[in-house]
Amino acid sequence: MLTKDQAICIRTVDYSETSQVVTFFTKATGKISAIAKGSKRPKSAFGGPIEILSHGRIVFSDSNREKLATLTEFESAASAAAPAPHGTWGLLRNDLFALNGCLFAAELLNLLTDEHDPHPDLFDSFLQFLHDAQDAGDKSETLALLILFQLALLKEVGLQPILSNCANCKTRHEGRETRDEVYFSSSANGLICRDCEPAFQDKFKLSKNAAACLANLKLLAESPQKTLLEVEDLLAHHFTELTGRRPKMAKSVLGS
Ligand SMILES: [Zn+2]
Repeated sequence: MLTKDQAICIRTVDYSETSQVVTFFTKATGKISAIAKGSKRPKSAFGGPIEILSHGRIVFSDSNREKLATLTEFESAASAAAPAPHGTWGLLRNDLFALNGCLFAAELLNLLTDEHDPHPDLFDSFLQFLHDAQDAGDKSETLALLILFQLALLKEVGLQPILSNCANCKTRHEGRETRDEVYFSSSANGLICRDCEPAFQDKFKLSKNAAACLANLKLLAESPQKTLLEVEDLLAHHFTELTGRRPKMAKSVLGS
């Protein structure tokens, strides 16, 4: 049976001299892995190798879910903003930080979603994130977008962190962060207050500014880069705790 879907490529692996195994995040089917036979041949049906972050419409056959799907068509959504082959995000090539942020988002999407588990809203959020990252004016704007996408991802997969009150005793953070130390705990899945902090071995201390940003995400847009990097550092740590290993792209965004 052939399935048509909208898709964004989140991973590619060379399968042979001429073929690739491509992981797509699709709108209606969720994540799938498909073999793109002959994609690396100059005259391939896909117009050349499929690139990570490229997006468009795909057709695949997926009769046996235990096996790889077979990609039969890939029609890229190239546009004026992204004239490169396969709808590659042309402008991202000129902004290495934004490109790394998008690759980091794709890596996390791959790590935190299951095959054939559709998340259409998350698909839309990811596509919007890629558009917005391409238009981001500077590193701070890219970081704020990345943080918001990462939090949207956690919410979609059922791991939304508790940020409006202490994840342990439920005391509200708003208005308190100026006098209280605030921590984040992956095991508590959220911010924890000073009173609860001794009980959490895995606590991660936050500056007042970083804690305020997490309690009120509207502050991200006007926060200095130092604060945004601190929040991103915390999220990279949290994703490490959740998945059991540090995401590869964290280093490219955080520098360590
Ligand atoms: Zn508490």
